[in-house]
Amino acid sequence: MENCIFCKIIGGDIPCDKVYEDDRILAFKDIEPQAPVHILIIPKKHISSLNDLAEEDSKIISYIFLKAKELAKNLGISEDGYRLVTNCGKAGGQTVDHVHFHMLGGRNLQWPPG
Ligand code: 5GP
Ligand code: ZN
Repeated sequence: MENCIFCKIIGGDIPCDKVYEDDRILAFKDIEPQAPVHILIIPKKHISSLNDLAEEDSKIISYIFLKAKELAKNLGISEDGYRLVTNCGKAGGQTVDHVHFHMLGGRNLQWPPG
């Protein structure tokens, strides 16, 4: 997708601090970390937001959650706990229109979020 920052990261046009990659997903460090561990997990397929999810996307979304579990373990935050969150739309705080899951950990997170 043209003009999508995350598609450009996937394509290698914009560099990122990669944590994990396979044929379906990419995980990389957030450029403005909000916690000691803050990575973004994205599907390589461009999906603009949760509002645009189709039935056929159910596999990739569940795959992201399964990989998130593995990544949390590898990043050493599994036992203490962490948060996997996605923002949708303007009021939800979404600033990049390519579905992504924030994985936050390494500190005690507040609830509710702001
Ligand atoms: P959102 O606000 O859409 O939920 O999250 C977008 C996230 O992407 C933000 O946490 C922001 O810091 C991160 N971000 C935006 N542009 C870039 C970039 O070019 N590289 C990386 N690594 N993260 C980015
Ligand atoms: Zn995209």
